Amino acid sequence: MTILDGKNLANQLVIKIRTEVDQITSGGKRAPHLAAILVGNNPASRAYVGNKMKLCEKAGFRSSLIEKDSTCPESELLDLIHDFNKDPDLDGYIVQLPLPKHIDEQKVLNAISPDKDVDGFHPENIGKMTLGLPGFRPATPLGIMIMLENYGIETAGKHCVVVGRSNIVGTPVSILMSRKGYPGDATVTLAHSKTKNLPEIVRQADIVIAAIGIAEFVKGDWIKSGAVVIDVGMNRVEDSAVPRGYRLTGDVDFEAASSNASSITPVPGGVGPMTVFALIHNTLQAYNSRF
Ligand code: NDP
Repeated sequence: MTILDGKNLANQLVIKIRTEVDQITSGGKRAPHLAAILVGNNPASRAYVGNKMKLCEKAGFRSSLIEKDSTCPESELLDLIHDFNKDPDLDGYIVQLPLPKHIDEQKVLNAISPDKDVDGFHPENIGKMTLGLPGFRPATPLGIMIMLENYGIETAGKHCVVVGRSNIVGTPVSILMSRKGYPGDATVTLAHSKTKNLPEIVRQADIVIAAIGIAEFVKGDWIKSGAVVIDVGMNRVEDSAVPRGYRLTGDVDFEAASSNASSITPVPGGVGPMTVFALIHNTLQAYNSRF
């Protein structure tokens, strides 16, 4: 059984990008520049943004973090986005989700210029992904595709069951897995909360991608012998045995699933670091399209 080690893979891939960036900057050009906007004080969001900024440094990128209070009016956020869209020294930026309730998330995402939308959430980029045209792919699905490719996991003709149909993970990864080419060419089933007989459907999967948001929801005996398991879930479960009072766990019962799977992502250290890497990948793509 192979552990799909996203942390190690992301580090290796970032070293390659660093070499490319060092060549660019030694030739006299500026480094790629990624910015993140963080609104409010959600500890998980702060941790995610911190990881993104750290990986930027490793890649030799310039990074900027703009923090706004949770009471920041929507109009102020939109003004900042308009400034970012016009800034020639900024290649890409993200607005960390979720946003406070008084801000319309879709309106904010729609305001991001598609050519700086390195999270790949803008409708234009989602449309391009669906049509197989060049554009930014959403970071988590792209990170999963890069992982499958680097581990040489076969996808053509395989039955891939995606559980969860969110706009940022389940739906886009189902599209990428079903598109022509590698990694892709899979026969995809997209399951969600209204799906009937979910365990039976997952048992038919050669590749399971779980993006539900419920700790250890997918049981070990749902996993067919030899299946590949990609666990996107990132759930905080109370645990008084650890100093911080909680542990992170995925959407799959890792211990039980490991005994059936041929390969599986751990949580943490699987899809999470690949998502951050995908952001770096997209930022370099944005930079290269400008120079
Ligand atoms: P959402 O809450 O947006 O979507 C959850 C999906 O799961 C929905 O489509 C929902 O169905 C489905 N679902 C809920 N309950 C069930 C059920 N009982 N049976 C089948 N399907 C169900 O979550 P996200 O996609 O944003 O995130 C999913 C998980 O991935 C979370 O733990 C999140 O923290 C994590 N995540 C991790 C990332 C990483 O980098 N590792 C990045 C992004 C997310 P319906 O549509 O019918 O409501």
